[in-house]
Amino acid sequence: MLFADMTETETNAAPVAYRVLARKYRPTNFDELIGQDVLVRTLTNAIESGRLAQAYMLTGVRGVGKTTTARIIARSLNCIGADGKGGPTIKPCGVCPNCEAITQDRHVDVLEMDAASRTGVDDIRDIIDGVRYGPVSARYKVYIIDEVHMLSKNAFNALLKTLEEPPPHTKFVFATTEIRKVPVTVLSRCQRFDLRRVDAELLQAHFKRVSLAEKMETEDEALALIARAADGSVRDGLSLLDQAIARAETKTVTADDVRAMLGLADRAQLITLFEALHVGTPAKALDIASELRALGADPLVILHDLADIAHTLTRAKISPQLAQGQALPELERNVAQTLGAKLSLPALTRTWQMLLKGMSEVQQAPDSHQALEMVLIRLSYAADLPPPGDLIKKIQESGIADHASAPRPNGGGGGGTQAMRVTGSNLAVAASSPQPIAVRAQAPAPEVNYAAMPETFQALVNLFEEKKEITLYSHLYSEVHLVKFAQGSLEIRVTDRAPQNLAGKVSQLLGEWTGKRWVVTLSKEVGAPTLSESMKAHKAARMHNAENHPLVRAVLATFPDAKLTALRTKVKEEVIDTASKDADVSELSFNDEE
Ligand SMILES: [Zn+2]
Repeated sequence: MLFADMTETETNAAPVAYRVLARKYRPTNFDELIGQDVLVRTLTNAIESGRLAQAYMLTGVRGVGKTTTARIIARSLNCIGADGKGGPTIKPCGVCPNCEAITQDRHVDVLEMDAASRTGVDDIRDIIDGVRYGPVSARYKVYIIDEVHMLSKNAFNALLKTLEEPPPHTKFVFATTEIRKVPVTVLSRCQRFDLRRVDAELLQAHFKRVSLAEKMETEDEALALIARAADGSVRDGLSLLDQAIARAETKTVTADDVRAMLGLADRAQLITLFEALHVGTPAKALDIASELRALGADPLVILHDLADIAHTLTRAKISPQLAQGQALPELERNVAQTLGAKLSLPALTRTWQMLLKGMSEVQQAPDSHQALEMVLIRLSYAADLPPPGDLIKKIQESGIADHASAPRPNGGGGGGTQAMRVTGSNLAVAASSPQPIAVRAQAPAPEVNYAAMPETFQALVNLFEEKKEITLYSHLYSEVHLVKFAQGSLEIRVTDRAPQNLAGKVSQLLGEWTGKRWVVTLSKEVGAPTLSESMKAHKAARMHNAENHPLVRAVLATFPDAKLTALRTKVKEEVIDTASKDADVSELSFNDEE
């Protein structure tokens, strides 16, 4: 069944128009759809139990087979079987009039529309008008809407009305690459399927079958390269295979052909390059790089591949089964066992990071080959450096030796003497020195001026404002209930709005500022109101008092619509009594707009 179309090309009485592989080998039933087991299982259950959804939403990256799946669903729903008596089936027969017409895109009841080009509400209205009429010859009228997220808001609204009360003979199949842009109201009325990227191994096996059907010989490595480049997309992979077959001069597609086509470097050569970088032979590395350049390899792709090797070696180091298993190609397995065993994890990690940095340099540089060479040179010199862990160990050991026996040199590293001293955190590695490692002592750190220990919780919170930790300050101010305060220890209850690491952060900063240890614990006790709450309560109480003041009451009685809105200073009794100091009275402001 996989190659239902094959016979067509073999009856070569008349020249048959060339069809691209992706079209020719487009799956027409679920058996041919590779790598989407979950979808097939769910749909099988739905059909067998007779519980068919009104609408399906297919989502996934481009090229994984969304529209293909949509058409297979249309066939499944409408197949009547070879004898014309069958019902909906997970295995559409492919020969009944419905199956045939759908495969050839000419079934009157299966309507396909691309929302990317028809996004207007009018188009949706056309559909909705059509929904009222039953199918002409099929069991269900199936609307396939591709890139459904592109519909306008109005179009979605119009569609939603139909989805809420769909006629029983209508089914919708939506496809989208951007599920997040589809309104939840629509999503909630669909059965959703996430189409996955297809595994490279599955892809490779599929491409093998296709090339055999095309009577082409293919090297396994060639197909593996195509599968890797396809990145989970059957369609992209088949297009690449198409090109590779077209380029092949003989009846065989070789790995070299594919590499040249994709601008890839030879894997073996790349591994040699990787090796050269790690045994510190920059000249050899540069030679290989120019060879690769002559073969047309792209500098960025070279770095990608080197990073891929670093990643493989790292993984093999962590799980030795991988290094011996069949999952890796032989070449990689060998190198994992030899070179990989020699390289430390930190060294591999460093290589990976330098390669990543190199990629952006190569992209930005005016001459990408020059940039590549610079990256390679840097990498091969880095191979000479001991891993960071060793470096620190060496420094520490020399520091101890220095204190124990060696006479202390005069001054800090003057006159070319190798000064080795370790003082607190003031370590400086003199990288320019030809000597292996020289550590120079710097002037002792100045005394740190610690903040005074806060005496109250309020003072503690104010410290955060002083130190410009405004976010923490506002959290402490409004999200923290004080349970217990003592110098060096704080017990609090926080609201849900407080950040998770609040206690840790507060304790750390207080420690830094005061030079003392602060233990901040979270409590379940209710504790005091937050500072913000007490401030509000305090304000309200003052306002209440003010409102009851005889003068204010007199004002309010005279202007019934007035309201006391702000209170800036405490109004003193005598001010009110004498009513002579206008300035103070003006601190009361009224609002009579209401
Ligand atoms: Zn059929």
